[in-house]
Amino acid sequence: MLSVVIPSYNEKGLVLKASQRLSEILSEAGIVYELIFVDDGSRDTTWEEICIASENNDAVKGISFSRNFGKESAIFAGLEMASGECCAVIDCDLQHPPEKLVDMYNLWQQGYEIVNGVKEDRGRESVAHGFAAKCFYKLMSNAINIDMSRSSDFKLMDRKVVNVLLSLSERKTFFRALVGWAGYKSVDVPFCVEERTEGATHFSTKALFKYAISNITSYSSAPMQIVTVLGSIFLFFSVILGIQTFIKHLLGNAADGFTTVILLLLIIGSIQMIGLGIIGYYISQIFIECKARPRYLISRQCGKDFTK
Ligand code: UDP
Ligand code: MG
Repeated sequence: MLSVVIPSYNEKGLVLKASQRLSEILSEAGIVYELIFVDDGSRDTTWEEICIASENNDAVKGISFSRNFGKESAIFAGLEMASGECCAVIDCDLQHPPEKLVDMYNLWQQGYEIVNGVKEDRGRESVAHGFAAKCFYKLMSNAINIDMSRSSDFKLMDRKVVNVLLSLSERKTFFRALVGWAGYKSVDVPFCVEERTEGATHFSTKALFKYAISNITSYSSAPMQIVTVLGSIFLFFSVILGIQTFIKHLLGNAADGFTTVILLLLIIGSIQMIGLGIIGYYISQIFIECKARPRYLISRQCGKDFTK
C-alpha cells in the first residue's frame, strides 16, 4: 500500500480537489493507497473539508493538530500515522504534480528506496522570494554538503527509510535534509512546479528567512565554525599588521591612525556579538531539545478504521 501524506494549512477549497485528483490518478494506476491529510491547525474550513473527503472515500484519513505546528511537524505526524509499505509526501496545493506519484511508485517497485522529486523550474514567484530561496539553498547546500537548490518535500520513501526518520528523537526536524542524510538507494524524478490555483503561499520572504535559520541550525553546526574562520582571518591580518608596524617602528616612522583603531574595534566588536548570537541560538536549540516536548498535539481524527 502507498500512504500519501498531505500537510494542509489553511487550504480551503483545495482539500477536496487534492483528494479527488489523487484518488483518481492512483486508482486508475491500480495502486492501493491511503491519503492522510494533516490539518496543521488551520483557521478556515480545511478540517471540515478533510472530514467530507473521508466520508466520500474510505481511503482518506485525517488528523488535526491542536494548533499550527509547522509543515515539518505535519509531515512527521503523517508519516507516523501511515501504514503503507511506502510513503509519499505531497503538498496540498497541487503544486507538486500528482501524476508523478505513479512514476515514483514504479521506481520504488524497481527497488529504489528513496524517490526524490526535484524541481525543474521553480514556477512563478517574486524576485525577492526567488532570491531568498536561492540564498537559503546555497547556504544550506554548503553547510550540509547536499545539493538543496532543486530539492523539495515531494518524495516517496520505502518503509525502511520512514522507520529511520521516525526513530530520530530530535524535536526540530528538517525533512528534506534528513532524507538525504539517511542515504539509501535513491533516484531523482524531475517535475515542474505548478501554479497555485487557490490561496497563497504560507512562506513569505521573512518566514522563509526564519525557516532557513531554524532549519540550518537544527541540522548543522557549520554556522558556529564561521566565527572560528573569521577569527582566524583576523588573526592572520593582525599578525601582518603587527609585522608592518614593527618594521615601520624600526625605520623610525611610528604608526598612527586613530580611525583604523576605531574601525578595527567596531569590526571585531560586531563579529564577537554575532558570534555570541550564533552560540546563543544553538543554546536555545539545545534548550528546546532538552525539554523534549512533543513535536505536535493531535486534537481530532477522522476516517474509517483509523485506529493509530
Ligand atoms: N503547510 C503546513 N503548515 C504550515 C505551512 C504550510 O502544513 O505552517 C503546508 C501547506 O498547506 C502546503 C505545503 O505545506 O500543503 C506547502 O506550503 P506552501 O504552498 O504555502 O509553500 P510553497 O509551495 O510556497 O513552498
Ligand atoms: Mg505551494
